[in-house]
Amino acid sequence: VSELQVWTHASEILTGEGIRRNEGRHPQEEDLGRILDGAVAFDQKKVLWVGETSKLPKRYLKYKAKSLRGQKCVIPGLIDCHTHLIFAGDRADEFSDRCAGATYEEIAARGGGILKTVEATRRTSEKELLNLALVRTKEIERRGVRTIEVKTGYGLDQETELKCLRVARELKRRCPHLTFHITYLGAHAIPKGRTSRDYLNEMEQVTLPLIAKQKLADSIDIFVDRGYFSTSEAKQFLIRAKELEFPIRIHADELVCTHSAELAAEIGALSADHLLQISERGIQMLAKSQTTAVLLPGTAFFLKTAQAPARKLLEAGARVALSTDFNPGSSMTLSLPLIMTFGALSLGMSRSEIFAAVTYNAACALGLQAKKGTIAPGMSSDIVAHPFQKFEEIYYRFGW
Ligand SMILES: [Zn+2]
Repeated sequence: VSELQVWTHASEILTGEGIRRNEGRHPQEEDLGRILDGAVAFDQKKVLWVGETSKLPKRYLKYKAKSLRGQKCVIPGLIDCHTHLIFAGDRADEFSDRCAGATYEEIAARGGGILKTVEATRRTSEKELLNLALVRTKEIERRGVRTIEVKTGYGLDQETELKCLRVARELKRRCPHLTFHITYLGAHAIPKGRTSRDYLNEMEQVTLPLIAKQKLADSIDIFVDRGYFSTSEAKQFLIRAKELEFPIRIHADELVCTHSAELAAEIGALSADHLLQISERGIQMLAKSQTTAVLLPGTAFFLKTAQAPARKLLEAGARVALSTDFNPGSSMTLSLPLIMTFGALSLGMSRSEIFAAVTYNAACALGLQAKKGTIAPGMSSDIVAHPFQKFEEIYYRFGW
């Protein structure tokens, strides 16, 4: 009658213990905590024991073990810490136009871009948005992801943004075996026909307090860039969010350098995301801070831009995470393993850096590192046996 489970004879178990010990900075091969022919005992909530199969304590022998026959590697459930999961429609036509040479400005002038997705999302019912999100979640989960960050941001008015937050809450309820972190990104762009000041005022005075009261979001995000919100606007907005006791994060230094990575470090954001144009000072400040640098190499690949300076961030001692940035405009992929391939080939990350980036470090980006991202007694039992003998096969078999 126990929910206790025992897995034995994993080809390898990567616990990531050393990564946690070093707070995800400078991940080295020995930090992976590799156990060959590994076993793990766990219940529905947490890991009870992990080690070599030959050393499995007697007290676990009475439970029927599931043998992985030396064929499977066991790692923490992967964490996708930056997705724009909730939206309607797609932008496949735009992609074809872009491949044929159209610029972003031309596409926007034809009514494409983010505002097109906003219109589709406003028109779509809560039920239909939930169905879309459920299908996408299934696809993410298929590759071993167990924790997913979900942003709003395709409503750009209070009514639709709240609708999307309710969809995210329902998603949480429908998938109790997964962990969701819900981020309010009402400040994704300036809505058509409004000024940034007017829209920010509404969010600061009305929407944020409402979201706090109804507990609809786990964190607050803002897009800081040329043509979007400025660094000083973001500072005021995020200070307001902090007053309401929300953790905060920033879409920082993507298109141009706005020194928003510095802002993220200065005001204690959980994460600064994108960072393609981060300054030298921004790199140093992030490295000294508790803010996780979330890199999204699929987006740079898809937009054919230069990648973020991953090596510089890693060598400075920043905590680096990787994520899909799943969204209809610049990264229409639900595959975190594919992003890990980009991490290896486009960002020059090592195996231990990649492992950290989708386990412990991604957990830090969501404030979940006390439970997630490491296999150790007392930590969450959302662990996954992959159909490969070695961890790196997850991204060596690219596009899996
Ligand atoms: Zn994003």
